[in-house]
Amino acid sequence: MHILLVLLASMTIASGQAETKAYQDVVDRIVETALAGKTDHRLLKELSALGPRLSGYPGYLAAVSWAESTLKTIGCDRVWRQPVTVPYWRRGPVETAEIVGSAKFTGRSLAIAALGGSPGTAGKPLTGGVIEVNPYTQLEQLDSLVRDRIVFFNEPYDHRILRTFEAYSKAVRQRSEGPVAAAKLGAAAAIVRSVTSRDDNVPHVGGVHRDSLVKPIPAVAIGVTDAEFLSSALQLDPDLQIELNLSCENLGAAQSYNVIGEIRGSIYPDEIIVVGGHLDSWDKGHGAHDDGAGCIQSMAVLGLFKKLKIKPKRTIRCVLFAEEERRQSGANAYAARSDSLKEQHFAAIESDRGAFTPRGFYVESDSAITQGVQKFLPYLQSAGIDWIRKGGSGANISKINNIKAKIGYVPDDQRYFDFHHSDNDTFDTVNPRELALGTAAIAVLTYLISEAGIE
Ligand SMILES: [Zn+2]
Repeated sequence: MHILLVLLASMTIASGQAETKAYQDVVDRIVETALAGKTDHRLLKELSALGPRLSGYPGYLAAVSWAESTLKTIGCDRVWRQPVTVPYWRRGPVETAEIVGSAKFTGRSLAIAALGGSPGTAGKPLTGGVIEVNPYTQLEQLDSLVRDRIVFFNEPYDHRILRTFEAYSKAVRQRSEGPVAAAKLGAAAAIVRSVTSRDDNVPHVGGVHRDSLVKPIPAVAIGVTDAEFLSSALQLDPDLQIELNLSCENLGAAQSYNVIGEIRGSIYPDEIIVVGGHLDSWDKGHGAHDDGAGCIQSMAVLGLFKKLKIKPKRTIRCVLFAEEERRQSGANAYAARSDSLKEQHFAAIESDRGAFTPRGFYVESDSAITQGVQKFLPYLQSAGIDWIRKGGSGANISKINNIKAKIGYVPDDQRYFDFHHSDNDTFDTVNPRELALGTAAIAVLTYLISEAGIE
């Protein structure tokens, strides 16, 4: 080889090595600072203290103000709120289910909680016989037997499935689709076994699908222990009835907001990298894992950049999405605004799977881009990331157009559905170190995408 070519080749290798070393130095500082700081745990405590962040609730608006001022304190170049119209449903103080009309079981109350969007029982008890459906697909065969009765969906969470999100997706149909399907067949109400991996008696709530042609019926979640009890009670007394009293109500639309903060890119300010989670939660527990943690991690990424005086080449934007839980109103509004402004998103990273130890990232893109992200794995191992694979990213960023890669942060989610949408999802169940490691992993990936690009 010509001596000049040898020289050029060795210079390229040397500059590549220097770049690798420079990146690794920053990565190490990001991880160390995230782990030592405990900032995110303190912020999650503050957010958890603001009250339930269900859309339309005062707690949500308090969280909007809190997030705005926190992003300003962090030192973002720009912080704003984007108006979003959201559905406003309120849980009422009356929420009971009791067995009646049974020699053996009358007076036994059941642990229930209304599902999001459920109508109430109009100030009087709704009483009906019960028909059990398990598995969910059995509903169609029952057809006219369902009329005027309370449909009890009792398909259990399938513990044999390794991936918890898969098990959840399988079991959640009876909650999301069951009530409207039962209403179509003329049912009076629906009781749905909680979709959870934990065998306790805490109801796990969630949204239900709507059909503009079908009048919704009252729908509640029941704790797993009481679902088992009700099933065995029905064996002994198939004619038992249940009296439901619910004062929840739909109050139309409410004004809400996405909260957005950004650090402008120093070289490519028009190329945006989003880090985000959803700021709303159910009104059970603190919404600490779902998705307080994801919001805090997204804010903390910007906090780390500021603290370490990293001036990113590309714009880093934290988006805290409004109203993910029922209709993804915040995600839709954000994408629509970006489209109208013709914004160019370089990448988006979502955290919405709980505050657990990092495992990997799913990349939603073509193979070339996925491989580009996979090149960062050696750096990400410093933050406990084991793998980067092609896969689905997340509901909040899924609507963004004009983007290279949508990426979902994946912690060890084996325990996620123990907490999800229930009183179990409290601040004290979040481990500060696991939360901070997640922040570090997302911050490292954000940094590398910003500085090195993805090709
Ligand atoms: Zn969530």
